[in-house]
Amino acid sequence: MSEAPFDDRQVSAGGAATHNPAPPPERARANASPMFADLAGDVDVSFEFFPPKSEKMEQTLWQSIKTLEPLQPKFVSVTYGAGGSTRDRTHATVARIVRETGLTPAAHLTCVDASRGEIDEVADEYWNAGVRHIVALRGDPPRQGERFTAHPDGYDCAATLIEGLKKRHDFEISVAAYPEQHPESGTLDADLDNLKRKLDAGGTRAISQFFFSPEAFFRFRDAAAARGINAPLVPGILPVSNFKQTKSFAEMNGTALPGWLERLFEGLDQMADARKLVAATVAAEMCRRLYAGGIRDFHFYTLNRAELSYAICHMLGMRPQPEGDAA
Ligand SMILES: Cc1cc2nc3c(=O)[nH]c(=O)nc-3n(C[C@H](O)[C@H](O)[C@H](O)COP(=O)(O)OP(=O)(O)OC[C@H]3O[C@@H](n4cnc5c(N)ncnc54)[C@H](O)[C@@H]3O)c2cc1C
Repeated sequence: MSEAPFDDRQVSAGGAATHNPAPPPERARANASPMFADLAGDVDVSFEFFPPKSEKMEQTLWQSIKTLEPLQPKFVSVTYGAGGSTRDRTHATVARIVRETGLTPAAHLTCVDASRGEIDEVADEYWNAGVRHIVALRGDPPRQGERFTAHPDGYDCAATLIEGLKKRHDFEISVAAYPEQHPESGTLDADLDNLKRKLDAGGTRAISQFFFSPEAFFRFRDAAAARGINAPLVPGILPVSNFKQTKSFAEMNGTALPGWLERLFEGLDQMADARKLVAATVAAEMCRRLYAGGIRDFHFYTLNRAELSYAICHMLGMRPQPEGDAA
């Protein structure tokens, strides 16, 4: 199937794609893909950040948080480094969000290299700091290329972590989902069974790994529904600010990198402004197609930069809300 970025055939109801299609009948026209100008901002978004490593990165992160805050995201999440390497920095960032913003934070937490007792401690610290939402993950091994091995007294996968967290405190829990299948999973069916286990254990929403094929996401959504998964599946959107980095992320997590994406970034290495325009266009177009397919919740992997995510939200029709005015 063609994975051309600007092809509306999968989501418009206008019949076979030709260069001059006949005007669609009235009912089909009502379902046709909306223009950006028609989008009413009837979407919910969340933003993901990572804990900063230096003073300079901290400043960038906080400028980004302050820029995105008026869009009133449903929540903002902060990642947890491999092997718990960012435990303190993740906690400090989340705690500062609680103290200094009106945002709802979600703290990522993984099972890697931690006993159940240590995870209980982290969970208690979050609960006591007023954090009520955890993105619960198994996590990747600290060194790339190794296989995940559970701590002898730890949790072996996200589903058991969720059971443990739910026993400790009544957190809201988000889990990870993989539209193109988790690389360690034998089959998509097995991966979907695992997703269902995580949701049955107490997860209330699944946030997807990033992807570049809305069709792949829709196929995944249909397969999940057929397996009795009713929780919201929220697409994870990665605006491509750096193609090489995106390629290496994609290789690590099994995301298909379409040829058209590489071609779109060809020759732009020294042209930062052109690259940003292309990046915003690609991500906004993906969101528009997801919107046309019924998606109203989007999770942005911001990489701690506000500009692209802000622009895409703007194109989805979102506008800053006055302080204290709940969305
Ligand atoms: C939204 C999102 C946020 C993320 N944030 C972070 C982060 O902050 N820090 C970080 O280190 N990583 C993060 N990751 C990456 C994630 O940790 C890795 O993808 C990891 O390899 C899997 O985590 P999981 O929670 O999906 O694991 P699990 O759901 O436990 O699944 C891991 C693998 O094991 C298989 N599996 C699990 N249980 C069973 C079973 N009983 N039988 C058979 N197969 C089973 C699954 O199918 C899958 O292949 C994130 C990923 C996403 C999508």
